[in-house]
Amino acid sequence: MFFCEVVPARLSDRVIKFDYFRHSIYSNMAQKQRPLNSVLIKPAGPDCNLQCTYCFYLEKEALFPETKNHRMSPEIQEEMIRQVMQQSGSNVSLAWQGGEPALMGLDFYKKAVELETKYGHGKTVGNGFQTNGTLLDREWAAFFKKYDWLIGLSLDGPEHIHDKYRVNKGLQKTWSVVEEKAKMLLEEGVAVNAMCCITDYSADYPEELYNYYKNLGLTWMQFIPIVEPDPEDPSKAAHFSLTAQKYGNFLVKLFDLWMADFVNGVPTTSVRHFESVFHSYVGLESPECTMMKECGPYVVVEHNGNIYSCDFFVEPRHRLGNLRNDKIINMLNTKKQDDFGKAKTLLPRKCKFCPWLTKCYGGCTKDRVKDPMDQRLPRFCEAYIMFFEHADARMRILAKNWMQQQNDLQEKEQSRGNYWAFRENK
Ligand code: SF4
Ligand code: SF4
Repeated sequence: MFFCEVVPARLSDRVIKFDYFRHSIYSNMAQKQRPLNSVLIKPAGPDCNLQCTYCFYLEKEALFPETKNHRMSPEIQEEMIRQVMQQSGSNVSLAWQGGEPALMGLDFYKKAVELETKYGHGKTVGNGFQTNGTLLDREWAAFFKKYDWLIGLSLDGPEHIHDKYRVNKGLQKTWSVVEEKAKMLLEEGVAVNAMCCITDYSADYPEELYNYYKNLGLTWMQFIPIVEPDPEDPSKAAHFSLTAQKYGNFLVKLFDLWMADFVNGVPTTSVRHFESVFHSYVGLESPECTMMKECGPYVVVEHNGNIYSCDFFVEPRHRLGNLRNDKIINMLNTKKQDDFGKAKTLLPRKCKFCPWLTKCYGGCTKDRVKDPMDQRLPRFCEAYIMFFEHADARMRILAKNWMQQQNDLQEKEQSRGNYWAFRENK
């Protein structure tokens, strides 16, 4: 019997059903003490069996030259889970990432569940697993299903889009194997979120991407805009980097596709970005740090126990310490992490007078610093404006309906059902 309930922390559960209201996992950010609600773990460091063109994490192996292979030891694993369970609130989410986290082997994750149970003492724990999918089999799937892990599968869409940049070490294509793994996971009843990187190429195919995922049964989708420096000439962005104009067009089209699939006012697919934006329309803080006022609500745990400020800033100057020497909650609450978080608020004058500021907050800090030509200004500003101007009216209607529904449910509960007898449109 489990004393620790292990459930997936799925954003869509909060919004799609339109039937329950809960503060986001980061909603205590306004408090003085940042709560430890979420950790992002790199158990195999930057190691990966693929070599995607746009990957920003493979080069991190230069930070850990002591060993060729990077693997979290059983001691670090236990100490990390012990600390996370003891220092977090009643809900906590662990996101296993990489590199490729499946390189650790399945036994490592069986042990993780054992430790979460041992130290969790009745807490609600969500486990997420971000993977390229290539190493998974039915045994992995049975494990994910049994413990309700939410899988983020890196599948960039149909063949011509996925294989454009997602290749293995021998520069061979990977689409057919990843699509096969997606089907296998879905057959086994695993909760899968399609993770799609939007590049200069894929941004031209919003309809093809959306329909591809939907037809495959991957109705939970997440689209990540890509911008990286050119490795040959770091004074400019790499050729695959997304521009604001293209991203804006992509979001506008994608929003229409998402809305067209509503049935009785309820979405039938989940697009994470739109759901996150929706939070701000109903007075909730976005669950995505990119749309929060400040950065820094979570920490990254590297394979050797090093703690860093953010996935995109695993760099010596953003190292907060090591969990062998200090508590994770203390490192999350250092001045260094505060300063990192506040850097997100350094926005140009234009933002201060922008009607979309409280929905956008300038986007992810990472997107301001990867291309020197952006001069540390929000790269996707034009895209956000295009999207908000296009979606605002419909978002307001959705929000109004949702709020009405919440009020109805509350009144129904308080009046023990009597309220409904006087409603005309029950
Ligand atoms: S830099 Fe981006 S990903 Fe990192 S904490 Fe800030 S908003 Fe989040
Ligand atoms: S839309 Fe542009 S101007 Fe407005 S807050 Fe966002 S980044 Fe700033």
